[in-house]
Amino acid sequence: MGIPTYLLNDGRHLPAIGLGTYGLRGEAGTTAIVSALEQGYRLLDTAVNYENEAEVGEAIRRSGLPRAEVLVTSKIPGRHHRYDDAVASTRASLERLGLDHLDLHLIHWPNPSQGLFVEAWQALVDLREQGLVRSIGVSNFTQAHLERLVAETGVAPAVNQIELHPAFPQAEMRAVHAELGIRTESWSPLGKRQAQYDAPAVRATAEAHGVTPAQVILRWHHQLGSVPIPKSGDPARQAANLDVFGFTLSEAEVAAVTALGRPDGRLFGGDPDVHEEM
Ligand code: NAP
Repeated sequence: MGIPTYLLNDGRHLPAIGLGTYGLRGEAGTTAIVSALEQGYRLLDTAVNYENEAEVGEAIRRSGLPRAEVLVTSKIPGRHHRYDDAVASTRASLERLGLDHLDLHLIHWPNPSQGLFVEAWQALVDLREQGLVRSIGVSNFTQAHLERLVAETGVAPAVNQIELHPAFPQAEMRAVHAELGIRTESWSPLGKRQAQYDAPAVRATAEAHGVTPAQVILRWHHQLGSVPIPKSGDPARQAANLDVFGFTLSEAEVAAVTALGRPDGRLFGGDPDVHEEM
């Protein structure tokens, strides 16, 4: 079954699932990313701070796939928010990737105490004009951060990549995104080491559909309208994680997974109003 795509607010398309690449480094990382492309992934999520942009670029070349068939996301780190630094950061990412454009480029964290994310956003707007990036977005932005971008630049992000998994379903941010025309992407979509595979709402639903608990969780993201980017270095798990477009959860099953959410369900306390990454 093919991967559906979403139409973004800038007229471009985004696959409904991608591969997270955090931790996929070195030769083993490159091999794992090539494997994911062979399984059918067409969206790869990297970042300057993952220190694996070279591996991502190498994997695309090794896969033999036409460049136009693979979408690459990277992210500007907190230490590069000043306008000139954001431009230089993007050029350096392209250099490491060995590519002439990024398909989606994000501001990794808003770092509000620095107060520079609007400068980074203006750089992204200009880089898009120049063709170095196709779609532009943000990550870990709150409603207030998003509204400030729109108020000061008139440009809404195409995507906001946020922490979203069953323990932290982000109903309020999903509603904000719907209002602003922003596509949600889910980071740590499985919940990483705290994945709730054994929660009855997940395990019983998996048994009912003849799928795995991870597939239930990834399908839940899809039915929320969010793009999950699960990371796996294992070819079998990569393939299974991609195979979530051939079954449908009932509304009650979706609601039961959402009900696993807790106010303190974040994995490491990454509240973007206070947590900052450089
Ligand atoms: P995740 O995708 O929720 O979980 C990854 C973990 O789950 C790995 O240990 C993986 O191990 C395991 N796994 C994958 N598929 C599985 C399956 N079917 N069954 C059982 N275990 C499975 O967590 P994540 O890597 O933190 O998040 C995904 C991506 O989001 C990252 O790689 C990164 O690209 C992005 N991210 C972005 C931000 C941000 O601030 N924007 C923050 C965190 C993450 P194996 O590799 O052994 O399969």
